[in-house]
Amino acid sequence: MNRSTTVLTNEASKLEEEEPPGTKQVKSDEEEPPGSIAAANRNKLFAHVPEESWKDWRWQFRNRITTIEELARYLPLSLKEQAQLRLVTANYPLSVTPHYLSLINIDDLNDPIRKQAIPSFHEVALAGSGTEDPLGEEKDSPVPGLVHRYPDRVLIVLTNLCPMLCRHCTRKREWRHGGWVRTPNEIEVMVDYIRRNTTIRDVIISGGDPLTLSTRHLEQVVSSLRLVGHVEIIRIGTRFPVVLPQRIDDELCAMLSKYGPIWLNTQFNHAREVTPESARACDRLLRAGVPVNNQAVLLRGVNDTIEAQTKLCHELLKIKVRPYYLFECDEVKGTEHLRTPVETGIRIIEGMRGHTSGLAVPTFVIDLPNGGGKVPLQPNYVLWQTEQELILRNYEFHLFHYRNPCRRRNHNGNARQASDATGSHSVQMAKATLPLGASDENRALIRS
Ligand code: SF4
Repeated sequence: MNRSTTVLTNEASKLEEEEPPGTKQVKSDEEEPPGSIAAANRNKLFAHVPEESWKDWRWQFRNRITTIEELARYLPLSLKEQAQLRLVTANYPLSVTPHYLSLINIDDLNDPIRKQAIPSFHEVALAGSGTEDPLGEEKDSPVPGLVHRYPDRVLIVLTNLCPMLCRHCTRKREWRHGGWVRTPNEIEVMVDYIRRNTTIRDVIISGGDPLTLSTRHLEQVVSSLRLVGHVEIIRIGTRFPVVLPQRIDDELCAMLSKYGPIWLNTQFNHAREVTPESARACDRLLRAGVPVNNQAVLLRGVNDTIEAQTKLCHELLKIKVRPYYLFECDEVKGTEHLRTPVETGIRIIEGMRGHTSGLAVPTFVIDLPNGGGKVPLQPNYVLWQTEQELILRNYEFHLFHYRNPCRRRNHNGNARQASDATGSHSVQMAKATLPLGASDENRALIRS
């Protein structure tokens, strides 16, 4: 570790102990009535903003908070803290929409909304961990801006601009390159690649955030993809419904409805992000025939408990958004402070499965380094398995004996004997461990 890293690390540990002057720790997880923080912040911080401007996504975009000086007008930050955060933003810039800022409990340093939006000194202090491009996207790009990893689908990146720069972002490496949007020529090269590769049936439009493009500009891309006969579905990855829901206006929805099937994947990470504005945005999309799925990221201190995830997924179902994935936070440089052990994700899924509707339980996945793809992880429910039977446990840790239907039958339709000696032996061992009454041929319930 070089000297500057040591200094930063020491500063980071001090930061943990210190509280900026004049701030009071208030736990955000103690239930606030829905919308009360946002309403209070609107009155306190944004009372001067006319309702019409607040609802205008262009006003929200233009008025993003992008400097520490501006931020200090809204949040209590000591001079020392401001100096530290300037060091962070020199590496990883800041951008928060007024809408998202209004959701933060400004009296709570550990607020789960704050952690996603406001820079932390840990981003540079722990910079020794992680890599710039952990998913190896750049090596999987046959033409600039297009990632082709799986046989039947590609991802195209239209811009590096986002209304909010999420502190846990996988593409933080792009933030230093200034704002860019692909030129018409670059887009044509990507579309041409898709045209020439007839196995591609699914195109994911991502970024940055593609909804930062004007509706007209986005339509040019979507309509040219629609002209490619083998492209069956188009997916849009965007966090606008969460961080700037005003963007999901009638004009955008009318455009999207012309080029279906289009699916939209978004990223709600905490129940308090599900605001009336977000609910309206998702409802508009659904009415335009665009299904909305959620791809949450598991984040330390934000949503790393069973309660937080269950509440989030229940709120999503109430606005008809399907909890689709829960991602382990990628190993990105500058995000180590937000990453959780993999076991946390498995424990959360275990605490949800069976305890709430299956529709509310996302699939927990790790996106493997170097382009290995997504791997789903879940608790182990199969305790024993042979060709003839399984011993399974359910969500209450009760054991069940399940007869495995035979893979092969002889010409009379009778099951053939298992030829595998190890398998037969395993059955004997399994039976030997089961309590009396466990040999019911169908589903013997074995209460542990
Ligand atoms: S919206 Fe997505 S791409 Fe943009 S900063 Fe957030 S996580 Fe990254």
